[in-house]
Amino acid sequence: MTRLVDPFQRTIRYLRVSVTDRCNYRCFYCMPSQGMEWEERSEFLTFEEMTRVIRLFTELGVDKVRLTGGEPLVRRGILDFVEQLSALPGLKDLSMSTNAHLLADKAEALHAAGVGRVNISLDSLKPGVFRQITRNGDLEAVLEGIDAALAAGMEPVKLNMVVMRGLNDGEIEAMLDYAHARGADLRYIETMPVGEAGIGGTDYFMPAVEILARLKQHMGEELVPAKGGKGAGPARYYQIGEGPVRVGVISALSRHFCDDCNRVRLTAKGDLVLCLGQEDRVSLRDGLRSGLDDDAMKAVIRAAIDRKPRSHEFNDDTSKVALRHMSSLGG
Ligand code: SAM
Ligand code: SF4
Repeated sequence: MTRLVDPFQRTIRYLRVSVTDRCNYRCFYCMPSQGMEWEERSEFLTFEEMTRVIRLFTELGVDKVRLTGGEPLVRRGILDFVEQLSALPGLKDLSMSTNAHLLADKAEALHAAGVGRVNISLDSLKPGVFRQITRNGDLEAVLEGIDAALAAGMEPVKLNMVVMRGLNDGEIEAMLDYAHARGADLRYIETMPVGEAGIGGTDYFMPAVEILARLKQHMGEELVPAKGGKGAGPARYYQIGEGPVRVGVISALSRHFCDDCNRVRLTAKGDLVLCLGQEDRVSLRDGLRSGLDDDAMKAVIRAAIDRKPRSHEFNDDTSKVALRHMSSLGG
């Protein structure tokens, strides 16, 4: 098999798939409260088309897929889709990012169908603050979803907290204790200037170095980098206590992770997005719907990977990413 290697010698092994741009929440840093311009549902790839694209990627060496959104659990048929993906021989690691609002009832079936692990957004443990950030979220439903994922045996369950000064930064320590008590991983995330909403979110920006300083103070000791803590992703991990809990800090605005970038993103309507922080994308739907065979589709994918940029442009000109929404990119 010839692998997908980009012009900077990075091998692409990870595909993030946004199955829908719709969401049952409206986190203020991700979506505007009103006037969200949804893609037409008829424009979305069908799950059969997505399965074909993902199969092609696995035949090109991608072995890790994350389903995201919008909120992946609001798209009808998601469970059958997961089952179809699990049958792909090349796929070793199938995961999902979710707000967990609908997870309590679905965690067991999802795990049985092949979702090995989940990342769950949890920005606050205070119902009022949680509602303020998500605009209409139900903290209790989310906490039940987290417990259900743990009970179903998903491993690891990773909690993602976008840390915002003056909003939830007072909960950095409480969130750590909450994750620790459940054996969940926790990642603190800086706000990213993606979309109008995301640029608004940067008003509350709190840099990773400050988050780390707070953790150090809370632990009363130097933070120890976790074993294997660098990984291919953007988070830097630290071991907390004796247990399996690791704490990661994702600093989007620094470029340190671009050198190891091993991922591309597929939007719900079939655009392949080569970098979260740049505009360039290639439509795979055009090829799929014009009847290209597998080899021709693989050639389209390879040509797209040849366009993957060296690094994102978050620091250069936020207006360039203002038009996009995190919800169509999948985070
Ligand atoms: N709905 C699912 C969820 O919330 O986990 C999956 C999609 S969501 C777009 C994926 C991740 O992106 C979430 O952890 C969310 O907090 C993060 N996110 C969205 N907008 C962001 C922004 N402007 N800055 C940083 N993280 C953001
Ligand atoms: Fe929905 Fe996730 Fe965006 Fe929040 S971060 S609005 S849950 S897609």
